[in-house]
Amino acid sequence: MEQEKTEDFVNVAIRVRPNPRFEEECLQIIPGEYPALHIPDRQQTFSFDNIFSKNINQFEIYNAMVKPLVLRLVDGYNSTVFAYGQTGTGKTYTIGTNIENYNETDGGLIMRALNDLMVCTYVKKKVNIQISFYEIYNEKVYDLLTKVRSKVPLAVKGFNVVGLSKNKVDTLNDALILLSQGCKNRHTGDTRQNSNSSRSHAIFSIFCHVVSGEKETEAKLNLVDLAGCESIKKTGNFGVQFHEGISINKGLLNIGQVINALSTNQDHIPYRQSIITTILKDSLSKSNYITFIACVRATYEDMHETMQTLEFAQRAK
Ligand code: ADP
Ligand code: MG
Repeated sequence: MEQEKTEDFVNVAIRVRPNPRFEEECLQIIPGEYPALHIPDRQQTFSFDNIFSKNINQFEIYNAMVKPLVLRLVDGYNSTVFAYGQTGTGKTYTIGTNIENYNETDGGLIMRALNDLMVCTYVKKKVNIQISFYEIYNEKVYDLLTKVRSKVPLAVKGFNVVGLSKNKVDTLNDALILLSQGCKNRHTGDTRQNSNSSRSHAIFSIFCHVVSGEKETEAKLNLVDLAGCESIKKTGNFGVQFHEGISINKGLLNIGQVINALSTNQDHIPYRQSIITTILKDSLSKSNYITFIACVRATYEDMHETMQTLEFAQRAK
């Protein structure tokens, strides 16, 4: 890597979801060079790299948070974008791991990154793109891009998933067809909070191979729609779902621990403690770029979960 890296390796943003019922809101955004979120009822203020109010659209989020990573991808740097938050706060909408929203207004980060790489001319180099799409459910890895919905998890050896498919895509349309097929293959569960809530982490990776003259680079951008971070008590889970809750939270907790260990220059980085950090190890280091988009709702009803999300996001920095 010949390019000097100047900015912080981890970037944390908050995205506040629109409130369709116009209920009273428990948080205030304080804009500025160091934007902050204030929760008057708890007398707490949190600051982040970016705070996106409910009026900020998909295009603006993409431009601020992911477009710079797409340019770095072409230069050979791995990056990971995590959408973190309680179920119903807009993680899937933000990342774009939904089947229906491939339009200019609602299209998520995946579609926009692919579009820039494959259609837009501002990416000056000729790129070869491959994609993988998989989910981690109960600490097991499932390929989402197999013809028949795969019930058999893939083995993880060392830090790699054995047999994960990598699909070459030549056009944006090819990629969107695969994305949409993969979305249909996802595990869904019925929790009290949202009947379509996904209890799994979905990871869409874009591999980019560039040859320009003498130079050749290969890098990947991971776009991760994390499972809901709500507490088990609130969703009323038990039995199988209770077990899911534990493995989901283990992954979420571990991501925080890994980033914290990296930021504080510790000798031991606990990648092995969960599957998601094991698999993403090659993208989770100080020489890569890690972006968190922590999604929250501003209503009083959600204040407790919102506080927990803000605390997690602040610790990640
Ligand atoms: P999550 O994945 O965190 O559970 P979703 O992405 O499924 O949440 O969002 C819940 C609902 O809210 C969906 O119907 C989604 O389309 C809508 N939604 C979320 N964020 C926004 C937004 N910023 N603007 C418009 N609609 C949104
Ligand atoms: Mg979701």
